[in-house]
Amino acid sequence: LRSSTAPRSVLADDPALGNLRARVRRFLDEEREAGRLPPPGCDRWLSGWDPGFSQRLAARGWVGMLIPLEYGGVGATPSERYVVTEELLVAGAPVAAHWVADRQIAPGLLRFGSAAQKARFLPKIAQGRCYFSIGMSEPDSGSDLASVRTRAERVPGGWKITGTKLWSSGAHLSHWSVMLVRTSDHPSPKSGLSQLIVDLRGPGVTISPIPSLTGEEHFNEVHLDSALVPNGMLLGTEGDGWQQVTEELAYERSGPERVLSSAPLLLSTFLAAADPAAVGGLVARMIALREASYSMSNSQEGDRSGLVEAAIVKHLGTRFEQDVVDASRLLLPYPADPDAPLGSSARMLAEGITHSPGFTLRGGTNEILRGIIGRSLRSSQRARAKLGA
Ligand SMILES: Cc1cc2nc3c(=O)[nH]c(=O)nc-3n(C[C@H](O)[C@H](O)[C@H](O)COP(=O)(O)OP(=O)(O)OC[C@H]3O[C@@H](n4cnc5c(N)ncnc54)[C@H](O)[C@@H]3O)c2cc1C
Repeated sequence: LRSSTAPRSVLADDPALGNLRARVRRFLDEEREAGRLPPPGCDRWLSGWDPGFSQRLAARGWVGMLIPLEYGGVGATPSERYVVTEELLVAGAPVAAHWVADRQIAPGLLRFGSAAQKARFLPKIAQGRCYFSIGMSEPDSGSDLASVRTRAERVPGGWKITGTKLWSSGAHLSHWSVMLVRTSDHPSPKSGLSQLIVDLRGPGVTISPIPSLTGEEHFNEVHLDSALVPNGMLLGTEGDGWQQVTEELAYERSGPERVLSSAPLLLSTFLAAADPAAVGGLVARMIALREASYSMSNSQEGDRSGLVEAAIVKHLGTRFEQDVVDASRLLLPYPADPDAPLGSSARMLAEGITHSPGFTLRGGTNEILRGIIGRSLRSSQRARAKLGA
């Protein structure tokens, strides 16, 4: 990789980014030494909920990094955020509490939020004190997201929402959910949708955790029974929910967490395998995927949604994450053991095996992503044919 013909990456070469990376590593070492950071594990960005850690990270300016100074952030570049995020993922740090707010809600508020919403939420997000959940899926609307049936009706003072959201990660611990809801009966299902910011502790909201295979309580059913959402909590424009969600999904699908969920296991397998060279192919794939994901982090500025590129990154990245688990099953000299000490290879392998089916489901399944990629290829072929005609 250090040969003169190898592609160079700004992530490796920029001295300021290298310096930032070293500071994050030092912080993580200090946290570890103080006994505040659990040993590494798979998929902690989704399952490691630790508000104290989020707030200590935020005190360094490493939560909501893209939030401008006027809203309490540090106005960092996407590259700086990328470096910090990578280090947290590889260390298996417990970042779940602030993850959704940092990754997609802050950019969504910056792009679509009202002045009052920005002033209310962004400073708290940057402090690591305001946690959001995603309210897209419903019992009969997962892949076919445009069919959501949760309905919001205008009432004096705001909106009344009725319906059920499903698989809402961390809703039982979050303060708010940004929900995709139907606000009018437009003949085209993608029109008539809007996004509302819903107080998860408000009246009319009931949250029931759904235990996962491992017994962990991670995602939830959120039932809304005429829950009142006051005026001022519509995100963006009424009826533009579909376009807004589409942009949000580009943020959700392209980050380094779509490549590195099983990175702590990969490292552990590399160290423990009888033939470490056997993981060489996986490491090479990881390097290429990192470049793809990194390039997306720089392209999601302004009004460019990058949905297709994000679909490609997520499809390839999550398959890679699963392949790391499959390879580790063969390469590690011992079997998975969910009762082995935290941070051991056997424990990480058990975590990888139980979490890996979700890698290619959450945020949109790979079948759906292939459909998005295919349709985009077809429309660019048509456009080329038109130009040629
Ligand atoms: C760990 C985890 C966390 C999640 N967190 C959240 C969250 O926080 N918020 C949220 O809103 N949702 C969340 N989800 C839900 C997730 O987005 C959905 O599970 C996903 O979009 C699939 O929807 P579904 O489960 O309804 O499956 P379905 O849509 O019923 O699909 C079932 C199967 O059919 C296939 N399929 C469906 N339609 C097509 C098609 N047109 N072409 C080809 N194949 C098709 C799918 O690929 C899938 O294999 C989470 C899911 C997981 C696993």
